[in-house]
Amino acid sequence: MLRVAEHFERTDTGRQRRGNEDAFYARAPLFAVADGMGGAQAGEVASHLAVEVLEQGLPDGGGSVEERLRARVREANARIMASAQADDARAGMGTTLTVAYVGEDDLTVAHVGDSRLYRLRDGAFERLTDDHSLVEELVRQGKLTPEEADEHPQRSIITRALGAEEGVEADSHTWAGRDGDVYLICSDGLTSMIPEAHVAQVLAEAPSLAGAGRMLIDAANDAGGRDNITVVLFRLEDVTAGASAPQETAEHRAVAREPEPESGAAAPAGAPATATVTAPVARKQPRPARRGAPAGRRRRRPRVPVGPILVLFLLACVILGAYYASQTVYFVGANKDGFVTVYRGLPYDLPAGVHLYSSNYESGTPVDELTPAQKKTITAHALRSKDDAQDLVRQLETGELAK
Ligand code: MN
Repeated sequence: MLRVAEHFERTDTGRQRRGNEDAFYARAPLFAVADGMGGAQAGEVASHLAVEVLEQGLPDGGGSVEERLRARVREANARIMASAQADDARAGMGTTLTVAYVGEDDLTVAHVGDSRLYRLRDGAFERLTDDHSLVEELVRQGKLTPEEADEHPQRSIITRALGAEEGVEADSHTWAGRDGDVYLICSDGLTSMIPEAHVAQVLAEAPSLAGAGRMLIDAANDAGGRDNITVVLFRLEDVTAGASAPQETAEHRAVAREPEPESGAAAPAGAPATATVTAPVARKQPRPARRGAPAGRRRRRPRVPVGPILVLFLLACVILGAYYASQTVYFVGANKDGFVTVYRGLPYDLPAGVHLYSSNYESGTPVDELTPAQKKTITAHALRSKDDAQDLVRQLETGELAK
C-alpha cells in the first residue's frame, strides 16, 4: 500500500509578470497545479476556482478513479464558465488543471492544458502527460521536432483549457506506483525556462525534496523567470510490509523540520502552504554523516557553485599564460599620436581596457609620411622578435625600407 511520505510545493511570480496566476493544491491524496490566463487578474480567479473543487476530494459513487477525477475537472470547468458569464471582467478567463490522485497501489492523473506531470523512478525521469498545446500537436503531426517545439514562439498557446468551452474533457491515465517514486507537477513557467534534463538532474541530486523544489524555482528565475513558476513535488512510500498506515495520517507523520517563511500566495485556503521534510530524493541509501556534523542532522550541501569558479580559474590561467607568452613577442604599429612605434606583447585589447602590449620604442617618423607599401608593412601588426621589430623601424628611419 502506498502513502505520501513527503511533499513540497511552492509557487513564484517569476521575474517578468506582475501577478501570479498559478495556483496549486497539495493535500494527500490529491495534488494539482493550475495555470490561469485572462486579463485583470481573471486568470488568478480561474486557477483558484479550478483547485478549489479539489477540496471536496473525489466525488462519491461508482465509477473508476479516472472517471471521478474527470468529473471534478468538468465541475471546475462549469464553475469557471459560470463565473465568467456572471462578470464581464472575467470573460474569456481560463486555466489549465493537472491533478494527481494517489491510490492504494497506483497513481491517477487527469489533465487539461500544458501543466505537466513527471515521474522520477530509479533515476529515470519521465514525462507522463502530453501537453494540450499547439506545438505539441504539431510535433505529433510530424511538423515540428521536439527541439523546435521547445524554442517555438507560440509554445505557450494551449489547445484545451478550462473555461474555454462547455463539455471540455480531461485526459486521464493510471500507473502502478512504487516505493520511492517522486512526482513533479509544474506549470510551464518551469519547463519553458529550463530543459527537462536540468530538471531531472536537480531532482536526482538535490539533498531533499524541499531543496529540489527551491532549486528548480531558482533555476527558472535565473533563466529569466518570464512566467509564473509552480512546482508540486511528492514522494511515495510503500508501507505494505510494515504495519498498515492509513493514507490520511501521512501528513501528520511527516515531520516538518524546515518551515518555509513564505510561499504559495496562490494556495487555496486551508491547504498547507508548505509541508517541508528534508529527506533524500530517490536516494535509497542515506549518505554517511560528515565528520563534525551532529548525529542525526544532515548538513546541507555547500551552496558555492563550483562549476563557475573552476571556469574562472581556468580562464585566469589562460590569460596569465597568454600574458607571459605575449611578453616575448613584438610588433610594429602606430601610437595614438600617429608615430611609428615598437610594441612588446600582442596587438590585442581585452575587455575593460586591458592592453596586451606596451610601448618599447617610439620613433619620430609619422605613419602619415610613409608610402602605401610601407604603411601596409607597419600597420600589419605582424608578430616579430625584438631584434626584427627594432630592425624594421631602424630601416624605416634610415630610408632603407622599400618604398
Ligand atoms: Mn504559465
